[in-house]
Amino acid sequence: MNEKVRCLIIGSGPAGYTAAIYAARANLNPVLYEGMQPGGQLTTTTEVENFPGYPTGTTGPELMEDLKKQAERFGADIRFGSATATDLSSAPYKVTIDGEKVIETDTLILSTGATAKYLGLADENKYAGSGVSACATCDGFFYRNMKVAVVGGGDTACEEAIYLSGLASKVFMIVRKPFLRASKIMQERVLNNPKIEVLFEHETLGLTGDKFVQGATLVKRRGQADEENVQIEIDGFFLAIGHTPNSKIVKPWIETDEVGYIKTIPGTPRTNVPGVFAAGDVADPHYRQAITAAGSGCQAAMEAERFLSEKGL
Ligand code: NDP
Repeated sequence: MNEKVRCLIIGSGPAGYTAAIYAARANLNPVLYEGMQPGGQLTTTTEVENFPGYPTGTTGPELMEDLKKQAERFGADIRFGSATATDLSSAPYKVTIDGEKVIETDTLILSTGATAKYLGLADENKYAGSGVSACATCDGFFYRNMKVAVVGGGDTACEEAIYLSGLASKVFMIVRKPFLRASKIMQERVLNNPKIEVLFEHETLGLTGDKFVQGATLVKRRGQADEENVQIEIDGFFLAIGHTPNSKIVKPWIETDEVGYIKTIPGTPRTNVPGVFAAGDVADPHYRQAITAAGSGCQAAMEAERFLSEKGL
């Protein structure tokens, strides 16, 4: 038999847990499914220095555990499992969990986050788990005193390169433009770090190595008169080139932009389907911060509460 709830939250980053705190305190008896990566992307980060209320910083996993406990304290029902299909054609909305159980819900909060992007090279699959990673903080430990490369020039890439510089003997940053896109402070930290060498205007053609990554073949100034191939010796290849929003399971029903970010009515977490709200990175191509995700999770839960009371549900 299907289970029926008033408020279903899918995804467990700062947006999902904050929505659960607010929904639980408003007596909506929320059920939250944590998804494949309980705690979301922040569980793959070490230091979090910019979440307000932690003057000396905290870690991603600790922050997520605190948010989860806070939601549970008010009675949020937090469960392990992933939403695998949705039917939002009419209310109550139906969400299938792990291909089996169907939950019917009056309101739905989508906080499914975003997933790391890869370059699309065949070698990324070939060396998956053998030198290729999209998470420095998860896998950096394996590269102590070795050489690694980080692809990307944004804040994530800089953060990963700095983190890896504390473990590895040498860190290359492979940046396709002649400049870093990251914030000024992160750029300075990278450029002043003696262990990090930024390879501007370089792109990756492929990886080399017997069983494990041993090197990368790059092209410098592709398409220019002075284009040249460059070979670097590395043991680890880390991707940090952005993320794809996890909106696929609601695609037929919920409007997204061309990348897949859920479109919301500006200034609100409301989607094109009444009673369905989006919070956090799945709907945020711009800020992508834990605190902004948490804020939008709060908004989504408040909207869900208003929706239910207006409908008398
Ligand atoms: P960004 O989109 O900001 O940066 C992606 C980087 O990867 C860019 O340098 C981009 O190059 C490069 N890139 C993308 N595709 C390719 C490709 N196919 N080949 C080579 N390079 C590629 O993503 P981030 O994940 O770094 O950051 C996302 C957001 O999160 C940003 O707003 C950022 O400020 C924020 N953030 C903030 C942090 C903090 O405040 N502590 C920490 C981490 C992220 P190009 O510039 O050429 O497009």
